[in-house]
Amino acid sequence: MQIPFPPASLGRNLVGLSRAALAAEMADFGAEPFRARQLWHWIYHRGVTDFAAMTSLSKGFRERLATQYKLRRPIVSRTLASTDGTRKWLLQFPDGQEVETVHIPEEDRGTLCVSAQVGCTLTCSFCHTGTQRLVRNLGAAEIVGQVMIARDALGEWPSPQADRQLTNLVLMGMGEPLFNYDNVAEALQIVMDPEGLSISRRKITLSTAGVVPMIRRCGAELGVNLAVSLHAVRDDIRDRLVPLNRKYPIAELLDACRTYPGASNARRITFEYVMLKGVNDSPADARELVRLLAGIPAKVNLIPFNPWPGAPYECSPDAAIAAFSDIVFAAGYSAPVRTPRGRDILAACGQLKSASVKLRPKSEAEAIPAA
Ligand code: SAH
Repeated sequence: MQIPFPPASLGRNLVGLSRAALAAEMADFGAEPFRARQLWHWIYHRGVTDFAAMTSLSKGFRERLATQYKLRRPIVSRTLASTDGTRKWLLQFPDGQEVETVHIPEEDRGTLCVSAQVGCTLTCSFCHTGTQRLVRNLGAAEIVGQVMIARDALGEWPSPQADRQLTNLVLMGMGEPLFNYDNVAEALQIVMDPEGLSISRRKITLSTAGVVPMIRRCGAELGVNLAVSLHAVRDDIRDRLVPLNRKYPIAELLDACRTYPGASNARRITFEYVMLKGVNDSPADARELVRLLAGIPAKVNLIPFNPWPGAPYECSPDAAIAAFSDIVFAAGYSAPVRTPRGRDILAACGQLKSASVKLRPKSEAEAIPAA
């Protein structure tokens, strides 16, 4: 006997299609243009996972959609909750690969830390994710899916306009977002759409280790806040900490920051600086940092090193971090020390890692494309 429709598991996922792509898909499907707008509303404003729940669409149309399409989220394979309220989800995709997503509640906001890749090719020597061997890019659906899973867990559908627990988004999870720019951009356009998930570009921060040629595009096309993982003020030290520095050294990176579209004193670039005992934490390093940042609308975020099993570094002592912060602050830059969150569940900066097998050697500059 012939199967009349493709098996349900093969249906095309509508989550992760841009507005234009969804409109084109619906046109191909023979639906009128306003159907695409209705679907968008149900998917991203209401968060429904089943066509049957889309009650403004006729029953026949809903049934027809269900024969061809899916509204697929990543599968939550594990949830961990820290004593400080931080939550971490291990999410699985249809090919079995996994990433981690973290929600960090604070008094006045809630930040979701999203991953851009499975693993990471950067091999920063202080970062746990860098030890993971398999790397592939996430597709737009897999990036948007992380936000939707968090909204599910927080009970935030339909998208609330006020009193949200998920107010801010940071691309600071696993992977290098600017090595997966197209998918990240597509996902962020969906996330920022005011008739859907509706998280404004002012509440979104993309963190990069310094993929210089992509920085300008990120500012011009997405207009999100930029964070740069600087971590050292001399090229010889940064070469060891962030090997990407050999390709794009400090001076080039800072030039790209100086001209980042949209940066101003009201919207400063964040320079992340991990505090590693005896490596980059001296008062002289702090003074050099101040010198380097001249002319850039900058703020500095000092991150106490978060340990992981087998890590070759130690965190700087509190006194060294405080002295460093004082020097930067005295020069007129805000220089808060980032409070580690979720350390007990390995959810803090640089601790994310999902178990995965080797698919390809990591020596390649960029990851395998999204599945
Ligand atoms: N690839 C991007 C996104 C990762 S963001 C980037 O490099 O910016 C994660 C942030 O945590 C980066 O600033 C990273 O350098 C920092 N980090 C990594 N490992 C860390 C650790 N063990 N302790 C503290 N911060 C760490």
